[in-house]
Amino acid sequence: MGFFSLTRKLAVDLGTANTVIIEDGKIIIDQPSYVTLNKKTDKVEWVGAEAYRRFEKENNDLSTVRPLKDGVVADLDACEYMIRGMIRMATTKKHFFPTSLKVVVCVPSGSTDVEIRAVRDAAEKAGANEVYLIHEPMAAAIGIGIDVMEPTGNVIVDIGGGTTEIAVISLGGIVNNKSIKVAGDEFTNDIVDYMKVEHGIRIGERTAEEIKKNVGSALEQLDDEPDPYTVVGQDLASILPKTVDVNYHEISTCLDKSITKIETAIGNALDDTAPELYADIFNNGIYLAGGGAQLKGLDKRLQSKFQIPFKIAEDPLYSVANGTYIALQNSDKYTLLFK
Ligand code: ADP
Ligand code: MG
Repeated sequence: MGFFSLTRKLAVDLGTANTVIIEDGKIIIDQPSYVTLNKKTDKVEWVGAEAYRRFEKENNDLSTVRPLKDGVVADLDACEYMIRGMIRMATTKKHFFPTSLKVVVCVPSGSTDVEIRAVRDAAEKAGANEVYLIHEPMAAAIGIGIDVMEPTGNVIVDIGGGTTEIAVISLGGIVNNKSIKVAGDEFTNDIVDYMKVEHGIRIGERTAEEIKKNVGSALEQLDDEPDPYTVVGQDLASILPKTVDVNYHEISTCLDKSITKIETAIGNALDDTAPELYADIFNNGIYLAGGGAQLKGLDKRLQSKFQIPFKIAEDPLYSVANGTYIALQNSDKYTLLFK
């Protein structure tokens, strides 16, 4: 290595909804996981926030996609473009000298070899000399501050955009893992459908996202009640604009079915857990991570359902990225990274 060369180390959380990159303990990229492709030229026009700005507004030549929509790599090429775009965005931000690049990317624990290879290839094409991977629930647990190497059972429920991942962890390994395709995106779809059926208006995904963040609720009655949220959509009958005040009570009803599916998956994961680990889990509580953990009343609802404390991670949107970064910094201590 030359005199001036540096090794840059990036921790990459490639999420279905958001991509986060940490370097030197700082978040340097926090962008929606979108790419805009030009169908005529097959070129990537925008990546991240710039692509999201154009989502649902593109013309015939442009297509904005979420390469990881359903949790795993849905579109290999688009995924590769996105990873490359994000890493390039991170690496062109500073440093003048040519550097070698070490990257750790987290992958869902159910990823196939093909998906893992796609992620690795994309990182290499973006200039990484060394690429390591880590399983997402393990990264989330480390990010939350759990000592994952201990012989203690811990459960992480990571509710992202495309999937909810439920993992039981002990002794530095994943004992038990369940992944379902019910998470933030599904909540958003529920809201789009609900607005159509109950209020007779058409809204896009972004508006539904805003409803979810403002008046999304897992409980019909919250202690801290949010004000109704006003949206404008297109009236299905008259095709004219229509304003609707949406309250959290109705959104809790609309999300109930999807939340019940998450409850069932958590129940199944707990059912499959050895008794000694279950006892630990009862004592330690279950950690909620991912953006979906912020849904109002969700922790309380799960706690009363399972009679186990549910704790929301301190930075639920960044637990995985933080853990990936810690694993990268301590790769000798944690033998959790793989190639
Ligand atoms: P991923 O890891 O799959 O990229 P994230 O952990 O970044 O997903 O979470 C993104 C999801 O969290 C999105 O569906 C987003 O709408 C949802 N989300 C973010 N904030 C909130 C909130 N306050 N209430 C409910 N859902 C939220
Ligand atoms: Mg995630």
